[in-house]
Amino acid sequence: MIDSHLHLDDPKLRDNADKIIADCKQGNIEFVINNSCDFASMTAGVALADKYDCVFATIGIHPHDSKNFDETFVQAMRRYAPHPKVVAVGEIGLDYYYDLSDRQTQRDVFAQQIEIADQLGLPLTLHIRDAYKDAWDILRAQKRHLNNGVLWHCYSGSAEFARQMAKEGHYFAFGGAITFKNAHKEDVLQAITIERVLSETDSPYMAPEPKRGSINTPLNIPLIVEKIANIYGISVEKAEEQIRQNTLNYFVKIRQYLDKKADMG
Ligand SMILES: [Zn+2]
Ligand SMILES: [Zn+2]
Repeated sequence: MIDSHLHLDDPKLRDNADKIIADCKQGNIEFVINNSCDFASMTAGVALADKYDCVFATIGIHPHDSKNFDETFVQAMRRYAPHPKVVAVGEIGLDYYYDLSDRQTQRDVFAQQIEIADQLGLPLTLHIRDAYKDAWDILRAQKRHLNNGVLWHCYSGSAEFARQMAKEGHYFAFGGAITFKNAHKEDVLQAITIERVLSETDSPYMAPEPKRGSINTPLNIPLIVEKIANIYGISVEKAEEQIRQNTLNYFVKIRQYLDKKADMG
């Protein structure tokens, strides 16, 4: 199984990273993608990808931190992008729930990072909260730069919007929220097909039921895959295999990395 979005560099996890990675190997977690939020986590993510074979990394600045986006940050993105285990630009987007950077700055930095991702030949991992209309406006305005894919992480929009984005060829990553009672995520997943679906934990946040409220880890990913399998009425094995295929279709550099590893025996 695969955790397509977590924060292993987070203070709640990083001191236990050795143990978490060892447990992943034991627990059928094939690989995880550490997501960048700011300069420190971007650097830490690349270091984790260097240290652990099963860790990949993204580069980019979170909407919360977009006020700190500057030329130094962009230069670091360009430096890290050619790394074989740097697989996407994320998590980028808009967060109007917390509003930790002003909205105009969030929009500008989101648009700029879409262009940079295109120059770097990397797909996007989006973090959008309470801002689906503005996000769509920016994606439309930047359409000529959307050449490597769009993934909506922790998707919390409507079923109808998901249906439209799926038609555009976008992907969606679902985590703990789909297991919460009263979350009513079934209609969102049913509005799209399982070929568009990835699994994630967003560890250390968003622990799924029945572990809600605890520190989340990638070891909880089977709870997510099980829920996805239930919603689509298929076996866990079938869901696991399809989600793996989707993940490798989306993150081309992961596929290349694993192919190369297989070639070298
Ligand atoms: Zn996020
Ligand atoms: Zn995240």
